[in-house]
Formats: sequence, structure tokens, C-alpha cells
Amino acid sequence: MRAANGRGDLDFDVVVVGAGFAGLYALHRLRGLGFSTTVIESADDVGGTWYWNRYPGARCDIESIDYSYSFDPELQAEWQWSERYATQPEILRYLGHVADKHELRRHIRFSTRVVAATWDDDASFWRVRTDRADELRCRFYVMASGCLSLPKTPDIEGVGRFRGAIYHTNRWPHEGVDFSGKRVAVIGTGSSGIQSIPLIARQAAALTVFQRTPNFSRPAYNGPVPATKKAAFDADPAAYRHAARWSRAGVPAEPSLVRVFQVSEEERLAKYEAAYASGDLLALSSTFADIGADPRANQTVCDFMRAKIRSIVRDPATAETLSPKDHFYGTKRPCLDTDYFETFNLPHVGLVDLRKDPIRTITETGIETASRSFAFDAIVFATGFDAMTGPIVAVDIEGRNGSPLAPKWAEGPRTYLGLMTHGFPNFFTITGPGSPSVLSNMVVSIEQHIDWLAACLVHMRAERLDAVEPTATAEAGWVQHVNDCADVTLFPSANSWYMGANVPGKPRVFLPYVGGVDRYRKTCDEVVSRGYLGFAFDGPGGARCNDGVVNRLQLDVSIVLELIAGLGLPPMETMAVADARALLAGMAIGRPPGPEVSDVADGVLDGTAGLLAYRCYRPASPGPHPIVVYFHGGGWVLGGLDSDDPFCRDLCVRSESIVVSVDYRHAPEARFPAAVDDGFAAVRWIAANADALGGDASRLAVCGWSAGGNIAAVVCQMARDAGGPRIAGQVLVNPVTDCDLGRESYVANSDGYILTTALMRWFWDQYADPADRTDPKASPLRARDLSGLPPALVVTAEFDPLRDDGAAYAAAMAAAGVDVCHLACRGQIHTSVTAVDMILSAGGAREEIGAALRRFLAAPAPAYGGEVVAAMRAS
Ligand SMILES: Cc1cc2nc3c(=O)[nH]c(=O)nc-3n(C[C@H](O)[C@H](O)[C@H](O)COP(=O)(O)OP(=O)(O)OC[C@H]3O[C@@H](n4cnc5c(N)ncnc54)[C@H](O)[C@@H]3O)c2cc1C
Repeated sequence: MRAANGRGDLDFDVVVVGAGFAGLYALHRLRGLGFSTTVIESADDVGGTWYWNRYPGARCDIESIDYSYSFDPELQAEWQWSERYATQPEILRYLGHVADKHELRRHIRFSTRVVAATWDDDASFWRVRTDRADELRCRFYVMASGCLSLPKTPDIEGVGRFRGAIYHTNRWPHEGVDFSGKRVAVIGTGSSGIQSIPLIARQAAALTVFQRTPNFSRPAYNGPVPATKKAAFDADPAAYRHAARWSRAGVPAEPSLVRVFQVSEEERLAKYEAAYASGDLLALSSTFADIGADPRANQTVCDFMRAKIRSIVRDPATAETLSPKDHFYGTKRPCLDTDYFETFNLPHVGLVDLRKDPIRTITETGIETASRSFAFDAIVFATGFDAMTGPIVAVDIEGRNGSPLAPKWAEGPRTYLGLMTHGFPNFFTITGPGSPSVLSNMVVSIEQHIDWLAACLVHMRAERLDAVEPTATAEAGWVQHVNDCADVTLFPSANSWYMGANVPGKPRVFLPYVGGVDRYRKTCDEVVSRGYLGFAFDGPGGARCNDGVVNRLQLDVSIVLELIAGLGLPPMETMAVADARALLAGMAIGRPPGPEVSDVADGVLDGTAGLLAYRCYRPASPGPHPIVVYFHGGGWVLGGLDSDDPFCRDLCVRSESIVVSVDYRHAPEARFPAAVDDGFAAVRWIAANADALGGDASRLAVCGWSAGGNIAAVVCQMARDAGGPRIAGQVLVNPVTDCDLGRESYVANSDGYILTTALMRWFWDQYADPADRTDPKASPLRARDLSGLPPALVVTAEFDPLRDDGAAYAAAMAAAGVDVCHLACRGQIHTSVTAVDMILSAGGAREEIGAALRRFLAAPAPAYGGEVVAAMRAS
């Protein structure tokens, strides 16, 4: 057979592994586009997950209306689900119907396992080998092999010895199992265990459940398809599907912007009750915006769920054992059930806590734990899967130069977009690691991946290209992005299969992409619209590569930027000063307040031209404390004691110091050098009045953000030149250090990241005459001598016009022998560090700042040795 692309003697354009939701749609779509395609499937029929998992109670937990294909309007109209959450047999019938309707079966090789796939560098094709000892040559090799298709083999001693029946939930006998009159053990309480246990209990004479990790589960309240849902779908299926595709999890829903502690406890519990009663898997996690990221917020859900378990399970000790305490809600896949917890009230059902009483061995007649011996007729293993990467690396895949995939992924999977991996041309993974995949309604994610793949293949055909591969740069950037996104959530804290933690020896890496279906789709579209950013192509049509990294901003930064862009505000530099000040004050309303501190008191101190207001934040620990004098940002024009209040609280807590925030005079009313003169006067006053403030004058540091960073830097120079007060350290956060707006970062980041180059120009115009701007008191970088300055931490943000200002000052101080650490924050913007509890990905930088201040303010002084830290965040 000659393939449609026409180069070489190929058997097929595309070989697809797997005939589940993904493989079936891939086959239909690619054949429809004229690509010769075959599917190889180890089972003897279609269905994938729904072919293998036939245990009692197996059903989907995303509502069937959502958990179904959208590509065929006719199919959507003709297929009616009998239940809200369809059973395994019904879903299997559905997939069989799809295969028949589109005449797919004849293109599928059943009962055949792919064992190896090797890329032929010279001929640009894949050789795919099966367990039937045949070899297929194809241009494109697509693994639609499933994320949960490789069962995890139970690593329990003595499994082979048991003389009774052994069942695995994911390899259940087709004819079913009758447990009547039997003594049954179920090992495992993940989704499959939770679904099957109530039904096995109904038949068995005695059931013992062996639990290692309790899981959060809620009633599914299954029944007929809810009328409201059906009406919403029927009214406009296309609009409904569109909403699903552009949602966070692949199911139409409005994300909450409200945080847990913004509402009263009463309101919070009412929302949790409503989510609980909804029987919707995703409802509880999405009641509030911060449940997935803030431990305290999540704890309120955990408490609510544990109270529910206690209200159902009558025996307090059993309820306690069934209550999850080792992970946050949602960090392991939550479950939906029918009578799961109620089952433990039945007299013939027992529970063994393997944490306290681990299995020693399986014997010929049953199970021996550390303290007991059980006799069983049957053992059911509900022990889960080697998820996401397992089925892929189970095949012996070799890419360019014969390099195998398994070692490349030994420390965790490395992909670009979860779709491809560098060094393996024309190899695609459907719902692969690094894509939303198992965190989403999988059918939506499957269709998106296959549509993207199909468009890519069409593009290549049109351009006469026959090899595509992500670049190493693009892949490294994506892996970083996937990890950055996971790191601002609570997911990595759990020993979950999302983290590979259920398989001994598997690297502990968060496997799916947590950024959401909508954002991910947008990213994939953007990659294409930017000329297949990060992909290299080759073929008769020529070689081309558009190297680069997509999504370089931190996820939470992008979200904030989108929210602000959605407000449609006029540029600040076009406003009157009073209006700009009012706007800034207005934007602070409703933001997270920052952490609690022991005491906050306002006062006045002597400035150069009269009294200045200050605000003093005290930590809870006993004093006297070191003192940090803080100068707020706002381009010498905007801001005040309120504008940086959350950041001052954060500084106070993290540095365990008294923070005195100084309200220096602002431009244009008081132009240069009023602000820096006030800053220096304030430091002198605070040093002189340290005792009254409860502080220790011998341990005094300065810190400032933006224009405040400029003031802090200048104050250090003034104090050095005046012979005091002694400043133990300076923290300059995104400081203005020079009046030259021509630096690269002013050009690259001139617009779109809140602080713009135009706004910076406006600030300078308000603050200082052009002739004054080169004065070192305005541009501290221009000081003739930078030696003898206090040790410094300079923080810069990648997407900040001021980035190179800070970097240049750090480098110049280091060259002058000052102890300097430069913390370059990847993916951050000018306002990130001060956006406490909003830009969580800047939490690591805030921690570094706190640590630096603690070091500065403790004897002996730190020694950075001019180190440059390309750090983002420490989790
Ligand atoms: C019990 C259970 C319930 C689930 N419920 C939901 C739900 O409610 N919502 C949701 O979104 N997701 C759910 N999932 C996830 C589910 O896996 C996906 O929704 C979806 O079915 C995956 O489809 P797929 O085609 O990608 O993979 P699969 O359905 O897993 O199909 C992959 C196929 O590839 C075959 N295969 C693998 N390797 C090879 C090889 N080397 N050679 C030949 N054949 C191979 C396998 O035999 C399998 O048939 C559930 C999973 C399970 C186990």
C-alpha cells in the first residue's frame, strides 16, 4: 500500500494505538481527511476503558451528556443516555454504536498489542511492531493508548498462592461474577473500589475492605438525566459544546472569583451543602477560587467532608478510619458514589486500616495482616493504574538515533504540550502527560488533541512536509510551565497517582497540566497561529523551525492580566494625577488583605519639610525587633500607606521585623528630591526613635518597591555618605535605578504588563526635570562610587520594563564589591511580588525577601559573593 503523502513505501500514513474514545475518533477523523489509518488494539473489541473495566458499579462520574463525543451532531441527536451517569455497559454500547455508525471496526486490528516502535531517521517513518510479529511502516505514530489502561500489578507477597478466585476491577470477567454466599476481600479504595464495594456487599456473605488511603467521596445522586441539563443541551448543542471546550475542566461552568474567607462561615457552609447535594463531581472544588491553592481554604472543605462521613458512618472508629487526613480535597481524584459510606454500617462489612495493620502476606486461604488472619473465597484488587506514562513507556519506543523514550522520561515525562516529545518526530500522545488530560472531562480533551493533530497533518500535507518535532527549547519551556502551574496548587502535596506516587520507583512529578482546558486550548491555538511556535518541520517542502517558548508568563500572572484587560481601563498616563490616584485606590478594594500581624499603628515622624505619616507593623514574637523601613511604589506620584499594606504585612511576618512604612511626599506637588530627602530623614528619625517603636536601631534595613526601591537605594547612598545611620541591608524590589528608558527591557516589555514604558515616562515627567534626572539621587546607578553600600538583595521580574534597571544596579554594586544577590523572577511582572495572596507564584520571591531581611538583620552580615539567583519560587 502506498500512503497518501506519497513518499516511500509506507503501509499507512498513520498507525494509532488503542480503540477507546481517542482511537476511535482519531481513526474517523484522519480517514475522513484522506490519511490512510489503522488502529491496533490489544482487546478484542472497541471501548478501551469501558471494554476493560466491567466491575460492578462501574460508571462515569462526569455526566454522560458531557462525557460524550461532540464531533457528530447526528450522533448527539440520536443517542439518549438513560441515566445521568451512565453505566459501563451503556458507555460500551455507545462506543460500539459509534464504531458501527462510522464503519470503524474494519480498520482496527483487535487482539494485537504494539510492543515496539522505531523511528527510521533516513526514511522518515516509524516501524511499528506488534506481538503478532508483524511490522507496519507509517509516517505518523499516534498513541491513543489511554491514561488509565495499564493496571498496576499488586505488589503484595503471596498473590500467586491464593487458592480462591482473584479479580482485578480493570480486567473483570465478561460474564460477570456472582459473590452470593462468598467471603470477599476488596483491596483498594480509589474510584473503582468506591464504586464496586456497595454492590459487592449486596451479594457477599461477608466483605472485608482493605484500605491504605481513605478518599473523599460524595453521593452521585444518580438518576435520570437532569431535566435542566438536558434542556440546556437540547436548546443549543453547539453552544453547549463550545462552552465546554472553553471551560476549565471541559464541562460548562462559571469559575468562582470569590475566596473562601471573603464570605461568612454560614454562607460558606451553605455553598458546600449545595455543591454536595448537586451530585456534580466538580462542584465542590469550584465553590471558591482558592480551594485548589490555599491550604487554609481547602481545609474548610476537608472539615466539611469529614463531618459528612461522620454523619453517615455509625461507628465512630470506622468513620475516623474512612476520613482522609493526609491530603487536601481534590489533590487526589475525588470520587462520586452510591451508598459507599453507608455500606460500612452493614453488619457483614468490615474495614482494615492498612496504615495500622499492613498486609503481611496473601495465603492459600486468605490474607494475613500484621495482627490478624482472614479467610476468603475471593479477593478483588481495586489497586489502580500506572497512570499516564505507564502505557506509553510499556512500548519499546526509539526515536532519532535509536534513542529510547523510557530513559528520556526516567526523571518524569518531558513533552511539548503533552502532544509530542523532542527527539521523536511524528510521534503523538493523545491526552499525554503535560496536557489537561485526567484533570478534565477526557472526551473534550481527546477531541481537542485529535483535532489539533489532524490540522497539523493537513498543514504538513499542504506544505509537503513529512516530519515534525518539537524543539528542545520549546519542550524545556513547556515542562517548566507545567511544573510552575502545579507548584502554585496543592496538588504536589499529595501522594496521588497524578504524582506517580502509587507506583514504586516512579518519579514524583505532577503529570497533567493544571492550567485548565480553556487556557490549554488557547495555548495550542496560539502555537499554530504563531507559525507552529516551538516545532521544527522537514520534508520535500523544505526545512523550517520557529523556535521559541509559549506561555512564558506564570499562570496566575496571565489570569490577573486578563482580568485587568477585561476592565478596559484607560492608560494611567492619560489621566489627571488625582484620577490616577483614585483609580489605584479603587483597585485595592476587595484584594486579599495580607497576613495577620500582631499590631498595626499609624503615627507621624519628622520629614525634611514637616511631618510625614507612617504605619508601623509589629510581629507577634517578643521584641525588641529589628526594623525594616519601607518605601511604597507608585512612580513617586501614586500610592501611600494603604497601597502596599498587604506587602508590608507579608514583610513583617516573613522577616520577623517591625516594618515602618513611610508616606514620603509625592510628585508633582513635591518634585525631586523631596521623596529621597524625606526617605533619608525618615530613616534617621526611625533610627533615633527605635526604642520608642519597640525596635533595635542597631539592626535596621531598608526595603522599597519600584520608585520606593529607588528611594531605598538612594537612602543607602546618602547614609553611607553622611556616615550614618548604619543600614544593615537593602532590599530593592523592581527598583527604578536610572532615567535611561532605552534599555532592552523597556523595549521588550513596553506594554501589556501593567507598568508600561509610557507610564514610566509620565512618572519621570511628574517627578524630575530632565536636567535633574541624571543626578545620582534620582538615578542611583549613576553614582560615581557604589562601594561601601549595605549588602543588597535586588529583585527583578522578567516581564517588567524596569528589569534591566535592577539588573544593572545589582551588577554595578557587585562590581564595586558590595555583597549583592540578584533574584531574577521568571515569568513575573512589575506588580507580582507585592500582590500578596494574589500572585501565588511570586510567593517564593517573597520568601527570599523575608529570608534576606532576616539574614541582614542578624549578626554576622551575610556574604552573597555576588551570586545571581535565577529563581522563581520555592514551594
Ligand atoms: C473506571 C473508570 C472510570 C472513568 N470515568 C471517567 C469519567 O467519568 N470521565 C472522564 O473524563 N474520564 C473517566 N475515566 C478516564 C477514561 O480512561 C477516559 O475518559 C477515556 O475513556 C480514555 O479514552 P482513551 O481512548 O484515551 O483510552 P482508553 O479508553 O484507556 O483506551 C486505550 C486503549 O489502548 C489499548 N492499548 C494500550 N496500549 C496498547 C498497546 N501497546 N497495544 C495495543 N493496544 C493498547 C488499551 O487496551 C485500551 O483499550 C475513567 C477511567 C476509568 C478506569
